[in-house]
Amino acid sequence: MKFQTYLIKYGEIGIKGKNRYMFEDALVRQIKHSLKDLDGLFHTYKAQGRVYVDCDGDYDGDEVVEALKRVFGIVGICPVVRVEDKGFEELKKDVIAYMDEVYPDKNITFKVESRRAKKTYPKKSMEINYDLGEAILYAFPEIRVDVHHPDVLLHVEVREEIYIYSEIIPGPGGMPIGTNGTAMLLLSGGIDSPVAGYMISKRGVGLEATYFHAPPYTSERAKQKVVDLAKQVSKYTGPIKLHVVNFTDIQLYIYELTIIMRRYMMRIAEHFAKEDGCLGLITGESIGQVASQTMQSLMATNDVCTLPVYRPLIGFDKQEIVEVSEKIGTYETSILPYEDCCTIFVAKHPVTKPNVNVIKKSEEKLADVIDDLMDQAISTVETIHVEA
Ligand code: ATP
Ligand code: MG
Repeated sequence: MKFQTYLIKYGEIGIKGKNRYMFEDALVRQIKHSLKDLDGLFHTYKAQGRVYVDCDGDYDGDEVVEALKRVFGIVGICPVVRVEDKGFEELKKDVIAYMDEVYPDKNITFKVESRRAKKTYPKKSMEINYDLGEAILYAFPEIRVDVHHPDVLLHVEVREEIYIYSEIIPGPGGMPIGTNGTAMLLLSGGIDSPVAGYMISKRGVGLEATYFHAPPYTSERAKQKVVDLAKQVSKYTGPIKLHVVNFTDIQLYIYELTIIMRRYMMRIAEHFAKEDGCLGLITGESIGQVASQTMQSLMATNDVCTLPVYRPLIGFDKQEIVEVSEKIGTYETSILPYEDCCTIFVAKHPVTKPNVNVIKKSEEKLADVIDDLMDQAISTVETIHVEA
């Protein structure tokens, strides 16, 4: 069955009053963006407190649903069949045809729920419910009505045309991008940081990203892997401005002092974040996962940041992170074996309880040289605009 419209369900909580328009407008904008490269003609609009996507031309309904499943803010996608209003007898036939095609197995219960948006329609909604219910029962002897817990809730919405739908395909939830500013993701080639970016972005936050590489110790392929990860994440978040920072000289100079290295990463990422008006930093850290992510280490890393640092995976176990990464399609890329800069310069005996004062003293000694190296790393940044 060809569905001509998709009714978009979105969460109502937190979008009451003035925010509602902002939320809906952002949702419409993001939906349009997600469909812009698909074949077909799409008209996305809001009407009577709902958002609809009308489809025309030569479109692939499955592709449309796949795209909509990646738009944050969408809780459910209802594929709708639109029929012309040619009188109630015709509507009965249309509804029967719909049930027949969408539910080949008739051993189900149902209930009709109509809504009369067009007030001049000759039947009231109660009457529509009853009469269509009766017609369906008559057409399919096996089918039964259950008004309390039906297997199928058949919606019939009378507008200029009549909209028939019953399925709800789950969307990703969250808030539309553009309703909550932008943040800077520290994106490595690992499993965690793409998931972290996804999770913050899901709350309506646009993303930029910073990647530190160390050529020739890290390869061009390792960099391409990060670009590919950013591309995958951008299917959900929209375009990502990716800052690729050459970290080689800083890393060679610091060598195995992992926490100091992490502090410089944060400083540099924050520099680009502030330059572009980002409102926070995002990392894929999780308490205790490695030595640089103990509570003491996180405190030492955090110490150099003035922007808030969002760590959405902080309480996640690795397996839970892997599950999200599989769901969003980054896992396969993340596990490709190309070395990243942290694994090459990894300390053999990492400190798990760094002392911030000791670290500050060490940094003072390094400062003369590193400050220049940092300026150089910042001024030689390569900026890549990544878009799915
Ligand atoms: P990931 O799987 O995200 O690489 P990880 O488990 O390897 O994380 P670390 O290497 O300690 O953990 O990195 C912690 C966080 O620091 C990462 O989640 C990421 O946000 C950031 N990070 C680490 N390495 C880099 C890098 N080369 N470029 C940018 N950010 C990085
Ligand atoms: Mg890593």
